[in-house]
Amino acid sequence: MHNKTIAELSRSLQQGDFSSEELTRHFLARIESLDGALNSFITVSAERALSQAKQADQRLAKGENGPLIGIPLAQKDIFCTDGVKTSCGSKMLDNFIAPYNATSVEKLNVAGTVMLGKTNMDEFAMGSSNETSFYGAVKNPWNTDTVPGGSSGGSAAAVAARLIPCATGTDTGGSIRQPAALCGITGLKPTYGRVSRYGMIAFASSLDQGGPLTRTAEDAAMLLGAMAGFDERDSTSIDTPVPDYCAELDRDLKGLKIGLPKEYFGEGLDSGIGDAVHGAMDEYKKMGAEIIDISLPNTHLAVPAYYVVAPAECSSNLSRFDGVRFGYRCENPKDLEDLYKRSRGEAFGAEVKRRIMIGAYVLSSGYYDAYYLKAQKVRRLISGDFKQAFEKVDVIMGPTSPTPAFKIGEKADDPITMYLSDIYTIAVNLAGLPGMSIPAGFANNMPAGLQIIGNYFAEAKLLNVAHKFQQVTDFHTKTPDAFK
Ligand code: GLN
Repeated sequence: MHNKTIAELSRSLQQGDFSSEELTRHFLARIESLDGALNSFITVSAERALSQAKQADQRLAKGENGPLIGIPLAQKDIFCTDGVKTSCGSKMLDNFIAPYNATSVEKLNVAGTVMLGKTNMDEFAMGSSNETSFYGAVKNPWNTDTVPGGSSGGSAAAVAARLIPCATGTDTGGSIRQPAALCGITGLKPTYGRVSRYGMIAFASSLDQGGPLTRTAEDAAMLLGAMAGFDERDSTSIDTPVPDYCAELDRDLKGLKIGLPKEYFGEGLDSGIGDAVHGAMDEYKKMGAEIIDISLPNTHLAVPAYYVVAPAECSSNLSRFDGVRFGYRCENPKDLEDLYKRSRGEAFGAEVKRRIMIGAYVLSSGYYDAYYLKAQKVRRLISGDFKQAFEKVDVIMGPTSPTPAFKIGEKADDPITMYLSDIYTIAVNLAGLPGMSIPAGFANNMPAGLQIIGNYFAEAKLLNVAHKFQQVTDFHTKTPDAFK
């Protein structure tokens, strides 16, 4: 059962080959016996899952045919889930149980999915390796000495190891696409405003976006269809209809114009990853696509601009964790000041503190114009690069990550090298565009991801382009040996 896609599981459930309860028990047993090696879950909510599965079976018995009824999934532990702990990977929220569901969680519940648990992640989604979690590092199922990527590394590792058919993630600078690439699965970061951020713990509000991590593009289309949509409780949610993402999957790619940015193939790109991307271009050419060299000249400014904007927004968002209203409170505070200082000092990890300090600095009077305002102007330039490119091409492709999965600990003490892991993904968030990563081969026996970037609200096109590739390749079907 665990080797089936959501689309296949859905058909089996509808036909009554097995029940949602049987399916749920199967995945719970896999998590129980195999997750010790990965640490991909923070919380497993078995009882609740079984009761959701029973409800799904009743809906199926009544003849309801929603495609996600009875499908098991896991939520990244950044999404608030009513009655189940939401830690955001932090000691700060280790005791936090939200009194409500995030909108996208609610939508997936209504669609009939069964939540098996909450996945591990970098603390407050800050990281590219899943090493900053309060709950310990997550391991990559392809080689447990290496990282799964981050910050949605628990979701990516769990899907890659077939502990769950699909999971949710969030992407502020690459956190859906980069772990998808490093774990050999499919990940989609939607257009900013497509999926509600209500109930998704905020890191950098102008960049954060939730989306699916799945085995295939078809599965991503099914999940996105349920997650997307206008939400009046999120002021940046966009009120535009949600298309049927599955309807366009098979559209012919003849004449598709693919832009390859020269800046994505320079120094620092692992040659095996570069080969995988070029191999993918050959496949697309066979399908009738045209490859066009393009330039995104401000690419080199994306990481520096991001590391001003994201810390600035995080320092303001994380000020709500004060030891009074949410989560951790230090023992025996002397006075209010001591309560704030020690609660935050004791509960936030080193990377979170680093970002809060950078953020407070770049927002302080006297530095605001030099850093924050400047970064916002750079952001506009980066959006302009993409705007010009999309006048010439339909989609942009390149590597998702410059290297395959690296060793646990290898970059942990060197934040700058770590930050460069997102060199090809961050610009997409700064511009608010949709982006995807799909498996495109292997480099050094580890998965290599192909990134596909689209124009605003072109998710259906991205999914179509990804699906057609998965029809003629089998990289997305590969499973790590220990988890077959
Ligand atoms: N790795 C990037 C960071 O550390 C992006 C994280 C994310 O997308 N949540 O901020």
